[in-house]
Amino acid sequence: MKILITGGLGYIGSHTAVEFSDDYEILIVDNLINSDISVLESLNQITKSNIIFEKVDLTDMISVNKLFDKHSDIKNIIHFAALKSVEESLKYPLKYYHNNITSLVNILSEIKKRKMEINFVFSSSCAVYGEPISLPIDENEKIKEALSPYANTKQICEKILTDFSKICENFNALSLRYFNPIGAHKSLKIGERPIGKAQNLVPIITQSVTGIRNELIVYGDDYQTHDGSCIRDYIHVSDLANAHICALKYLEKNNNIKNEYFNIGTGIGTSVFTLIKSFEKVTGQKVNFKIGARRPGDAIAAYSDNSKAIRVLNWKPRLGLDKALLSAWNWEKMKRINN
Ligand code: NAD
Repeated sequence: MKILITGGLGYIGSHTAVEFSDDYEILIVDNLINSDISVLESLNQITKSNIIFEKVDLTDMISVNKLFDKHSDIKNIIHFAALKSVEESLKYPLKYYHNNITSLVNILSEIKKRKMEINFVFSSSCAVYGEPISLPIDENEKIKEALSPYANTKQICEKILTDFSKICENFNALSLRYFNPIGAHKSLKIGERPIGKAQNLVPIITQSVTGIRNELIVYGDDYQTHDGSCIRDYIHVSDLANAHICALKYLEKNNNIKNEYFNIGTGIGTSVFTLIKSFEKVTGQKVNFKIGARRPGDAIAAYSDNSKAIRVLNWKPRLGLDKALLSAWNWEKMKRINN
């Protein structure tokens, strides 16, 4: 069975490709805008296979058409490809709307035109919830105005999928709303590989400890949380990747899933200061940081009620914060050795 993994050379996509490699023929599509072709070689080493790769920009309708001509036997799609920086999206909203929405629309147009039977998993985000009204956040949380153009693209894409599901027979879809993936694969051949300036907290920590960047800035220490810093739900990327297997099994077993939503997180809220202390504890490294101003687009606290995914998808996070942080640190060291 052929599975198309868009954005499969990126952080989460590459870890997910490993999970699928035993049972599926994998086709990765990526335009390398935020990833490196060397990830393909690492994936082939881990999976001991030759993963099919097509360099395609999914916003280019003609290239997407050719892609589906060539691979008309696709049965499953995991759609990761997107731009993901909240900060950048506030500066360049049109870039985000164009890339994230056009890519999805182009893929769905091909599915419709070709009357394909498809199981579709969409990479959504807890960012769709904005500032939550109640914690932990469950899937019934009211969707409010997005805090950034990036988050808005996720809200819009979810809505497009829901509307499309209604008019497209044989199209089964669900959206996984990820919380905060961190860490690296146990082989240490793949991990988070920010191109340019790291934007997520854990790579910023590892880079500040190795001296690649000057220091870590904690954006805001006066939030109404127990220690004043923001709270997030950090999940090991391999646990997150595994959720896609469970999601696809669920779609394969059940017909007529018209874009259901699932939170994929650990259910545990961790503050920025707690995360820093945990990192210091498991790695023995000192993290230097400065306090900066609050950042626009940041929710104060966001952590998941993951009971729906556990109950319906039969999925469970297994690895925990300490293992995730240690793997992130080991990955950072491994990258330095290889560079
Ligand atoms: P990533 O940037 O590492 O991976 C995305 C991949 O998509 C990259 O390899 C990039 O080159 C590719 N891509 C982007 N636009 C493309 C296009 N037009 N055509 C072809 N390829 C394209 O990001 P990630 O962290 O792996 O995130 C994957 C998905 O999960 C994204 O949709 C992101 O919004 C979502 N998500 C990520 C996080 C997170 O913290 N990492 C949290 C919630 C949701």
